[in-house]
Amino acid sequence: MQKYNRVLVKLSGEALAGDKQRGFDHEVITRVVGELKQLVQNGIEVCVVIGGGNFWRGRTSGDMDRTKADQIGMLATIMNAIYVADVCRSEGIESVVQTPFAVGNMTELFSKDSALLHMKQGRIVFFAGGTGHPYFSTDTGAALKGCEVEVGALLFAKNIDGVYDSDPKLNPEAKKYERLSCQEMLAKNLKAIDAAAATLCIDQKLPVIVFDLDTPGGILKAAAGEPIGTTIYV
Ligand code: UDP
Repeated sequence: MQKYNRVLVKLSGEALAGDKQRGFDHEVITRVVGELKQLVQNGIEVCVVIGGGNFWRGRTSGDMDRTKADQIGMLATIMNAIYVADVCRSEGIESVVQTPFAVGNMTELFSKDSALLHMKQGRIVFFAGGTGHPYFSTDTGAALKGCEVEVGALLFAKNIDGVYDSDPKLNPEAKKYERLSCQEMLAKNLKAIDAAAATLCIDQKLPVIVFDLDTPGGILKAAAGEPIGTTIYV
């Protein structure tokens, strides 16, 4: 039994890079695509947002003009989506990449209607290019697109296995939440998802499940509503 009919899976760029931290870890990506394919075969409509952190992050680009740095970040998310969409092709699952701005003939322009139709026809839709605006993140892009195409949940696959009350890398006593309200996450400044994304989730009552991309079957479990990671509810 599936809990959700349509989900948005957010993959952080860093998680796609595996242990290498930059670029692509093909093995990790092939496994992830296998899980996305399984979701589609289980009758779930799937869309995906991928970050850009394995190539570039606007907010850590030093003295560079922020708008320009963020433009590079948005382009990095498109490179990631084109790569993972091509892995979908080689694994036998159809997909399409949509962006909020024209990228010539490399992507389709985002349209809610066409995204819904693609998903209904069993294709995975990659929403690349974030929101199309600087000063935002792919978390916010994911929340925005999740609201627009009316998914049941956002599944955030990260390189950490949930939301903790403090950084587990710095504090061995850090406690992981199984469930946490979005309001509490904001009040405690836990930053599991950024504030702009959280505001949209609260407004639209959209739950977010944060879990570790490294857990085999993690995406399937999260989509099935089985216990995994941390559920951020509203
Ligand atoms: N970005 C942006 N606007 C958006 C989404 C992303 O400007 O709507 C840029 C920003 O520079 C960001 C980069 O793209 O640092 C990569 O996205 P993000 O850091 O969210 O990727 P992740 O951390 O999930 O890999």
